[in-house]
Amino acid sequence: MATTDDAFNGLTEHCAHCELDTLHEVSVQIRTESGKEENAQFSREPYRVTECQRCGNRTSQRMNNA
Ligand SMILES: [Zn+2]
Repeated sequence: MATTDDAFNGLTEHCAHCELDTLHEVSVQIRTESGKEENAQFSREPYRVTECQRCGNRTSQRMNNA
């Protein structure tokens, strides 16, 4: 019996490219916005990245912006 974790983190969202609600693969990326290593801990921002499974269009959105 196979147990599936959340290996595929799929979510239906609107794709601006398709102009449709499509299945998206969602992941979180930590991006370092500063080139300086010593400041990296202050400038690492989590981004929510969604990739449309229909057209492959990727959208990233900073999570700390609310
Ligand atoms: Zn799309």
